[in-house]
Amino acid sequence: MKSSKIKKYLIIFLLFLSSIFGFNNQGIKIIKNDLVLGYVKTIENNRLISLNSFSTVLGYKNFVNDKTEKIVVNIGGNKIKATNGITFVLFDDKVYQFPNKVIVKDNNYFISTSSLLKLINSNKSSSNFSLKDNEIVISEVLNKKTERVDLTNEKKKWKFSTIVIDPGHGGKDPGAVGYRGTLEKDIALDVAKRLEKKISRNMDVKTVLTRDEDIFLKLDERKKIANDNNGSLFISIHANAASDRRASGFETFLIGPNKNEAAVRVATRENAVLELEGFSGKKLTNEDLIQATIAQSAFASKSEQFAALVQEEIGKRVTSRNRGVKQAGFYVLWGASMPNVLVELGFISNLSEEKKLRSSQYRETLATAIFRAVEKYEKTLNQ
Ligand SMILES: [Zn+2]
Repeated sequence: MKSSKIKKYLIIFLLFLSSIFGFNNQGIKIIKNDLVLGYVKTIENNRLISLNSFSTVLGYKNFVNDKTEKIVVNIGGNKIKATNGITFVLFDDKVYQFPNKVIVKDNNYFISTSSLLKLINSNKSSSNFSLKDNEIVISEVLNKKTERVDLTNEKKKWKFSTIVIDPGHGGKDPGAVGYRGTLEKDIALDVAKRLEKKISRNMDVKTVLTRDEDIFLKLDERKKIANDNNGSLFISIHANAASDRRASGFETFLIGPNKNEAAVRVATRENAVLELEGFSGKKLTNEDLIQATIAQSAFASKSEQFAALVQEEIGKRVTSRNRGVKQAGFYVLWGASMPNVLVELGFISNLSEEKKLRSSQYRETLATAIFRAVEKYEKTLNQ
């Protein structure tokens, strides 16, 4: 035998040993009825689990498309689809946003372990997967309650009946504070009220303001108002701030995979209110957010259409920079079961833009622009 061949066998042998004894790799042991079914590959201290390896150990099939970098696995009758670099995971053709992007390493598609298990557990599977240290224990559950929220029937038609307008922040949460002390909550409320007036005067639709005065409202409460009212469109209104005082312009956000650092910064700032909401003790983690993330892909395209109209209409009327439509993980948009966007009217951290936003005429112009966008959007629905 050539020495290179010996070396090769030696390496394979060592890899074999290490896989048995788990020398260099972390992994999660899968246990069912006190039997060890096998080990599933994980990375980042078991935080991320390999979908391929998980389905194989459980005895299910998986299919990987190397070209599109997608994986489809069937686990206990649930179809799970994931794509490299994307935070969205399709579970039985419903879209869920995971706290991490899918990472592909050595042909393994790694996704958040706890989110995956949560998702499986909340669905029709009669097994319960519980994660403890380095083990996943599978137990059979009889008459399991399903926590699944089915939105398919709720929103079969795009009937345009109720528009929910959500002025960001309020009460003890001022939102961003401007260069000269302008408060985001005040700007947002004023523009929202103007918009509400225009819609209710000119269109045959119901309007709902999540708040019409300076009160504190949790992000979940805002969504609840929207969902309870069966909203056909949810518009959350905000003003932006950045540590770079030069930043300016208006932008509209959709909920979506985090692709852009600046967008993530905005989402982080807008989500920061969660801290004020008394999450102490059971602080809302990224992992928890998945519970609230039941977005339908159909909403996404409608939201995108509306967002583009908002940008277009504002752009026609003001000279500020059009920063375009972006996406990031905004908590307030998560779980709103209707097309939804978050509008950032401008940067109050920018001296000249703050000055504009302090002018009631400018705010009127912005409200008119969003109103026109609503009108145009309604027309696209009737086509
Ligand atoms: Zn805000």
